[in-house]
Amino acid sequence: MAKPKVAVYKFSSCDGCQLSLLNLEDELLDLAGAVELAYFLEARSKITPGPYDIALVEGSVSTPHEAERIQEIRSNVRFLVALGTCATAGGIQALRNFTEKDDLAFMVYEHPEYLHALDTSTPISEHVTVDLDLWGCPVNKYQALEVVVALLQNRKPYLPNHAVCLDCKLDGNPYRWLTASPAWVQSLALAVAPFAPARAGVATAASGLGPALKCLP
Ligand code: SF4
Repeated sequence: MAKPKVAVYKFSSCDGCQLSLLNLEDELLDLAGAVELAYFLEARSKITPGPYDIALVEGSVSTPHEAERIQEIRSNVRFLVALGTCATAGGIQALRNFTEKDDLAFMVYEHPEYLHALDTSTPISEHVTVDLDLWGCPVNKYQALEVVVALLQNRKPYLPNHAVCLDCKLDGNPYRWLTASPAWVQSLALAVAPFAPARAGVATAASGLGPALKCLP
């Protein structure tokens, strides 16, 4: 029986989430035995054509080419996982969404006219249907592994429904950045806190895995 095909894609990102996958080290050989790593340019140059069973997508959509490419990828894969904060929320590069892209380009590049960038940098889910958002910067390599294994076993992955920061607070540790910062920083942090992205994304996405999992062998 043919092994399920896994593809790993990079969009606008620092490659850190892909490196997390490569850092699996001990588990990577077992994983490579259970699936065919059909497309993973950071790990190997050989490409096996799709369609693919699972796509792990790192990075946000920041260029017209990426906006087209994610559509092609979505049409060629059965289960798409957005991997890491860039893919799930836009990442650091999404800071430009709050200013004029051209102003920043002139500050950074000598020839900004060569840039082919969208005005905003956006999560994968703003462009195509995402089956699971896996948060983290970088993504937790064991959570990524758990997602792939769960899909292979046709079950829902075991994922935490809160950030590791909460475990720290439950242990009674104070929020050092707040308590050690000047008063104006504390005020600012408290003011923006209600607008922080909900961390229930994983739980929300995971709870919807049932129907999606049924499409896998
Ligand atoms: S989520 Fe973080 S580690 Fe992953 S690609 Fe983006 S910036 Fe890099």
